[in-house]
Amino acid sequence: MSTTSEFDTIAAVATPPGEGGISIIRISGDQVFETIKPLFRGHDLQQVASHTIHYGHIVDPKTNGEVDEVMATVMRAPRTYTREDVVEINCHGGLMATNEILQLILSQGARLAEPGEFTKRAFLSGRIDLSQAEAVMDLIRAKTDRSMKVALNQLDGNLSRLIKNLRQDILEVLAQVEVNIDYPEYDDVETMTTKMLLEKAQEVQAAIAQLLKSAKQGKVLRDGLATAIVGRPNVGKSSLLNELLHEDKAIVTDVAGTTRDVIEEYVNVGGVPLKLVDTAGIRETDDTVEKIGVQRSKQAIEAADLVVLVLNASEPLTAQDRELLTDTATEKRIIILNKTDLPRKLDMVALADLAGETTVIETSMTENLGLDALEHEISHLFFEEGIESGQGNVMVTNARHIGLLNQADSALDDVLNGIAAGMPVDLVQVDMTRCWDLLGEITGDSYQDELLDQLFSQFCVGK
Ligand code: GDP
Ligand code: ZN
Repeated sequence: MSTTSEFDTIAAVATPPGEGGISIIRISGDQVFETIKPLFRGHDLQQVASHTIHYGHIVDPKTNGEVDEVMATVMRAPRTYTREDVVEINCHGGLMATNEILQLILSQGARLAEPGEFTKRAFLSGRIDLSQAEAVMDLIRAKTDRSMKVALNQLDGNLSRLIKNLRQDILEVLAQVEVNIDYPEYDDVETMTTKMLLEKAQEVQAAIAQLLKSAKQGKVLRDGLATAIVGRPNVGKSSLLNELLHEDKAIVTDVAGTTRDVIEEYVNVGGVPLKLVDTAGIRETDDTVEKIGVQRSKQAIEAADLVVLVLNASEPLTAQDRELLTDTATEKRIIILNKTDLPRKLDMVALADLAGETTVIETSMTENLGLDALEHEISHLFFEEGIESGQGNVMVTNARHIGLLNQADSALDDVLNGIAAGMPVDLVQVDMTRCWDLLGEITGDSYQDELLDQLFSQFCVGK
């Protein structure tokens, strides 16, 4: 007996590409054991207990030669990620061996998995809902511990539970309205029903507002905060950049997937993933920066969510300093007063005037002073309301979810406006039902195939 799966057998490398120690090849489907049998020398994997690991060798059936020494993990349906039979091959022979093993598996009739196909199967088999599937994607891309926590929380189903409860509440009201309309035993049915709809619409709208409030911070955690480091030549921008990129802070991400193969520079500062804008401009030698510097910083400032403006405390403010202070006045910004280890020449009163409300942080890159304060300030700017304080807090991080919540919110506006305008209950009911549908799209209780394809194609192969 094999599985309940209606799908073919798929395989892919599940570990990120690169020269890691161990690679994992994942195979899932109803022909897993038939696929692996001719290739695995060791125990007969079809006979072993579920959720056990076995030492053996992968052999090329054509030559009978050993390709690699491996550990094979056997997990039988339905207690697996995809709810199908799954075998995972842990090999350690590097990229070449990994690819060779994958090719052998494919030559036995398995198909190379599409991006996200394992997770898609987990969704289609009902093991996880859509918002959980999206959390898997966020986890793969998580850039700091905090973004990881938010994704884990969602994977846990916290957002789903909240949405499901809201939908259940709406459904109960809709059912009640239905009953009242069908059995108008009381004279004031219309009034009673309207009151119920009104109260529920307000209640759900409040819950949605709460979720949308979390979305801004969520977006930062998810995508990183585009940050520009600006300042005239020689104030210490490169030194700051190097401090930030210091080993334990740098997060060099191969932006998930297959579509954008760029390496973006992220640093984790106080739990906020900063996505550094135009670091190339900072790295160029000072004479080129001199030429293109001003124009370039203007572009960087425009592209940024946060501007870190660096000044030199050991020199008087220059015209360029003043220009940058004015240009960034409307931005979310932090001013860094660097080289405080040297005798101070900068006019602090003039600076205070130009800085306005902005926090000025004194640093010395050579003495390694002030970076803690910078970290604290960035954290403070973005987590004033303290995400970590509320452990069970649900945070919305996903653009699709935010869009649906906004639509659901306006459906509720329609409900409330309809009631205020004295519209008949059955018309108000239509808008309430629309809200219920829209919320269902978040968890995938109502979905379209198109959405699924679009969504899962953003995953990397192997997940
Ligand atoms: P950038 O042109 O703004 O990128 O400035 P750099 O980071 O290249 O620094 C210019 C020079 O100032 C280098 O020689 C640095 O070593 C020096 N420098 C940077 N920060 C400090 C500091 O806090 N104190 C002192 N004394 N020198 C610094
Ligand atoms: Zn051997």
